[in-house]
Amino acid sequence: MTISVAIIGAGFAGIGAAIRLRQRGVDDVVLFERGTRVGGTWRDNTYPGAACDIPSRLYSYSFAQNPDWSHTYSSSGEILEYIDRMVEDFGVAEQIRFGHEVTGVEYDADTGEWTIRFAGRRRAVRARSVIVASGPLANPSLPDIRGIDDYEGRVIHSARWDHDYDFAGKRVAVVGTGASAVQIVPELVKTAEAVKVFQRTPGWVLPRVNRSTSGLAKRVFRAVPGAQELARSAWFWAHESVALGVVWNTPLTRVVESVSALHLRLQVDDPWMRRQLSPDFAAGCKRLLMTSDYYPALQADNCTLVTWPIARIAPRGIRTVEGIEHRFDAIVFATGFEVGKQGTPYPITGLDGRDLGTEWSDGAFAYRSVAVSGYPNLFFTFGPNSGPGHNSALVYMEAQIDFISDVIAQRERAGWKALDVRADAQERYNRDLQRRLGSTTWNSGCRSWYLTDDGFNATMFPGFATQYVNQLRRVDLQDFRILVHDREPAVAVSR
Ligand SMILES: Cc1cc2nc3c(=O)[nH]c(=O)nc-3n(C[C@H](O)[C@H](O)[C@H](O)COP(=O)(O)OP(=O)(O)OC[C@H]3O[C@@H](n4cnc5c(N)ncnc54)[C@H](O)[C@@H]3O)c2cc1C
Repeated sequence: MTISVAIIGAGFAGIGAAIRLRQRGVDDVVLFERGTRVGGTWRDNTYPGAACDIPSRLYSYSFAQNPDWSHTYSSSGEILEYIDRMVEDFGVAEQIRFGHEVTGVEYDADTGEWTIRFAGRRRAVRARSVIVASGPLANPSLPDIRGIDDYEGRVIHSARWDHDYDFAGKRVAVVGTGASAVQIVPELVKTAEAVKVFQRTPGWVLPRVNRSTSGLAKRVFRAVPGAQELARSAWFWAHESVALGVVWNTPLTRVVESVSALHLRLQVDDPWMRRQLSPDFAAGCKRLLMTSDYYPALQADNCTLVTWPIARIAPRGIRTVEGIEHRFDAIVFATGFEVGKQGTPYPITGLDGRDLGTEWSDGAFAYRSVAVSGYPNLFFTFGPNSGPGHNSALVYMEAQIDFISDVIAQRERAGWKALDVRADAQERYNRDLQRRLGSTTWNSGCRSWYLTDDGFNATMFPGFATQYVNQLRRVDLQDFRILVHDREPAVAVSR
């Protein structure tokens, strides 16, 4: 039996795609999720302090607004509740198959269908379309540091928090000073005996003011039509304006840097520490850090910032290059994820046996981030160059799932065998995209997880969220090769 659409992953994107497909009349859809519950990022990242740094009104779907957000910025737990509620309200639960880890997908040119294979299951599934929604940051990565396997204490990755481990009275290392670390450290210093934070590169930090939502505001959001849309729009445009200083290196970038430097000056008295915490790259080049709690935590009596590079992990701690061994009961790695910028997380085999992992080995590329020529009827959420540097991932995601649902709904209605992006349309798109990336802060010289080792940017979109959304607002069928079934009469197709 062949299903209409297989969605890989039941995070925000997968669930959103199932909802939007159903709203377009496509409901023969199955979500295959390797975990045992929905939520993706927000199911996996439960470390103390885990929270979103985009306001909840904007970090949510416009078609599933929530009047009851408790704060401006939500905790991981509250976002997970929101996702659970969405699954219930839109009736997605029965479409999800948990414990299904996809190990590969393969295109059959004769039928125009995909075969999807799973770990530990003999039975494969066939689908007319596949949506790869397995997440840009779903697989945690440990750094390639010598001796990491020899460490005898507890190793904890931020995305796989060990809630049974009692940090009270423990000496703890935190490796990494990115977006997760700056949320973890303020919580850890409250419980651990001693915390040492190993910093390779300091980031630009902006204050985050998190207010609780008053009962009155919630009542207004519930009762007044348009109030939630208005608040969402206000946040959207506020973030769009920030792009001028964050996406491109402009005089406004200096303004962002000045605000951050002032924040550092106000929170840290010690000039030497301020120097250690001052970045030497343009703001925006690496992800901006949003926190008002990190600097105070670093100055707590039980916290130390270590800026010597790590030489190796020893059985009982971490050795830094100047020869000191720091002993710890536990090491917390807040070192991020295997970001989908090269290769694919599982084999994706397209027309004529083409392997997408090989084609993407030097860096991923796609047509408008959602489809790749030679891989018909296969779509990506959070595909190549769809990353926002200044706005909510959910705004980008909603544009992707709407575009993908439109394409799939058109194909299902017309009964086309396959839709394949034209290679020339994809090439044109990427040539222009890479040219525009050249003038962004991400390509301005720092080393970040946005870039491959060779400096190729396969992750970020060089523009405003508005531009990204606009390019996905309508399906340009002339950019696709449309194949009809041999046995069917030719369908009238406008190309
Ligand atoms: C700690 C953290 C904080 C973040 N904060 C923000 C923020 O403040 N603002 C913002 O805009 N973005 C933020 N992000 C980015 C965030 O990842 C996205 O906003 C969004 O949650 C991604 O949703 P997704 O559905 O694409 O992926 P995910 O949420 O990762 O979901 C992917 C799902 O696919 C499943 N899966 C993966 N591989 C397979 C497989 N082989 N077979 C079957 N299932 C599979 C996973 O188990 C998971 O459930 C943050 C990310 C992290 C990690």
